[in-house]
Amino acid sequence: MDINKLKILFDENQIQERIKEIGNELNKLYGEEEVIAVCVLKGAVMFAADLVKHLKMPLKLEFIRLSSYNGGTSTSGKVNAVNIALPDLNEKNVLIIEDIVDTGLTAKFLLDFINCNFHTKSTKFCSLLDKKVTRLTDVDPDYYGFEVDDKFLIGYGLDYDGFYRNLKYIGYIDKSDLE
Ligand code: 5GP
Repeated sequence: MDINKLKILFDENQIQERIKEIGNELNKLYGEEEVIAVCVLKGAVMFAADLVKHLKMPLKLEFIRLSSYNGGTSTSGKVNAVNIALPDLNEKNVLIIEDIVDTGLTAKFLLDFINCNFHTKSTKFCSLLDKKVTRLTDVDPDYYGFEVDDKFLIGYGLDYDGFYRNLKYIGYIDKSDLE
C-alpha cells in the first residue's frame, strides 16, 4: 500500500478536540465514582491512552485482546478472544473503550461476555468511530467520537496488515489503491 494515497479524514487536532469533549461527558456521567476502563487491543490503544488522560474519577485501566480481522480489510465475521483476562467486575462501573464499531460483532461478543460473567454496576461502550451503515447487530456505542462511512480506515490505532497504527490522524484508502 502506498501511504501517499491515504486521504485524511480526521486530523490530529480534530481527533484530540473530540476526545476532550467525550472526556468531559464521561466526567459528568461518573462524577467521583470509580471506573474500570477496558481498552480493547490493539486498535483502541491510542484512543484509550488519550481519553483516560481527560478522566478525573478514580480509574483502573485494563486491557483485553480480541480480533475479528485476519490481517485483511474486512471482518471475518467471527470474533476471537485472544486474551480476555479481566478482574472482578461485579458492582463496578465498566467503561469499554474501542476504536471502531463496524458490524458490531466484537462489541456484542464483549458485552455478552461481561453480562454472562459479571453483575456490573453499569456498563458503557465508548468507541472513537461508529460505522453505522455496516452494522449487523443491534449494538450501538453509548458514546462515540465520529460517525464514518463504509471505508477502510487507517491510522490512530487502526492498522493495515499491522502497520500504520502509529499515525496521529485517521485516513482512508480507495479499495483500488489497496494492492
Ligand atoms: P466489528 O466486530 O464491529 O465488525 O469490527 C470491530 C473491529 O474491526 C475493530 O475493533 C477494528 O479492529 C476492525 N475494523 C473495523 N473497521 C475497520 C476499518 O475501517 N479499518 C481497520 N483498520 N479496522 C477496522
